[in-house]
Amino acid sequence: MNDDQKLRFFGGVGSTTGANIMLECNQRKILIDCGLFQGTKYAEDKNFKPFKYNPIGINFLLITHAHMDHIGRIPKLVKEGFKGKIISTKETMELAKLMLQDALKVMRSKYPKQELFNENDIERSFAFWEGKKYGEKIKLFDDCFLEMQNAGHILGSAILSVTISKTKITFTGDLGNSPSLLLPDTEFPKEVDYLVMESVYGDRNHENKKDRRKKFKRALEEGIKKGGAIIIPAFSIERTQVLLYELNEMIEGGKIAKVPVFLDSPLAEKVTAIYQKYSSDFKDLIQKEIKQGDNIFNFPGLKIIKNFEESKEIEKTEGTKIIMAGSGMSEGGRIVNHEANYLPDPKATIILVGYQSIGSLGRALQDGVKKVFINTGGNKKKEAVKVRATIENITGYSSHKDSEHLLEFVEKVATSSLTTRSSLFAKEREKKSKLKRVFVIMGEPKSSLFLVQRIKDYLNVDAVYPKEEKSYDLL
Ligand SMILES: [Zn+2]
Repeated sequence: MNDDQKLRFFGGVGSTTGANIMLECNQRKILIDCGLFQGTKYAEDKNFKPFKYNPIGINFLLITHAHMDHIGRIPKLVKEGFKGKIISTKETMELAKLMLQDALKVMRSKYPKQELFNENDIERSFAFWEGKKYGEKIKLFDDCFLEMQNAGHILGSAILSVTISKTKITFTGDLGNSPSLLLPDTEFPKEVDYLVMESVYGDRNHENKKDRRKKFKRALEEGIKKGGAIIIPAFSIERTQVLLYELNEMIEGGKIAKVPVFLDSPLAEKVTAIYQKYSSDFKDLIQKEIKQGDNIFNFPGLKIIKNFEESKEIEKTEGTKIIMAGSGMSEGGRIVNHEANYLPDPKATIILVGYQSIGSLGRALQDGVKKVFINTGGNKKKEAVKVRATIENITGYSSHKDSEHLLEFVEKVATSSLTTRSSLFAKEREKKSKLKRVFVIMGEPKSSLFLVQRIKDYLNVDAVYPKEEKSYDLL
């Protein structure tokens, strides 16, 4: 029997960031994700606190995907003694290297007096790291296996299922908003006993996917008509590539006017190269387009900005221009300089196409704040900046499932986990589904709690919003 299996949540509870979950079985410890807390100062200060467990005793660290809120404290874990094995897809491994190196630069300028980790800790992390393929059966211990399925969230993102004896515990990481433009649809794990799932959009639905391109096109057309700069804060993984793909379609297809487009993010450029390297991961339709000879991420008028001097030069391009830069929530990165320049300009347009966490500049803009405070670096003093630019908010490009589709995901997992074939009446499922409990994490509290309630009410499946650090027995 599976004695003494338990789950503990050390991050990502009541917050969309800081993913860090411990699965224990008879003294063996498997950690899932080791992410950065992001957003408010209070959240970020937590990164510098010691881990609530001993990193030396951990056997495995399994990584769902290469976003910082899932990987950002890995080098710190290694610095503090972790000597186990790190496993992810090979795509995640390559992306993580870029992301961690970039994060180190950002952290050094943001926290000059504190060091979370250094280059050496990043380097050492990859000595422990193994990149695997989706669908491989990976042995962790004699009675314990890992399988990774495509989550469809970003390149390399995986749903992790750990089977110990006969108990299967599945960790969703972040779940993609399928169908996505570039990636295949989310796969559905089967025969699951316990599900640990994200809930970033647990209480909200996205606008219709068919409308997203229309809305993006309309925002661009109106921005072009006004004749000012169009600023798009974009996450370097997935969102930048999706937007490059959309702009490629619109510009090469003559659907919008040809205006200069600046990609002002060296990180996004490197990530795009990894996307190109793993183009066999794209959905069939996209692979066909590539085979027909289109460079889906390049089009006339696109200029890749290499250095800070070139970035400053963008200002000199008069009239309408599109500037894409990181970070996606306007917390640091080159985007904030462009925002400081153009937010006061009524002719300018800011197009928000991603999740904006509480406390971020992007969230303030999304909430319609008329004056923001921006630190453009250097003197470290925040400047007050008036917001006169048009703010457009497009949620259809989210790379997370919305409330309805998260619920559908649980329903499919519950259905596929029926112990006997039978129709799915709630009462019958209660008796027959193998799925014993869903742990809802990685969302703001109201989002997670709403999803917990929906899972219980609509699917009659036990669901909880776990408490941080509390131990949950898996029976
Ligand atoms: Zn993510």
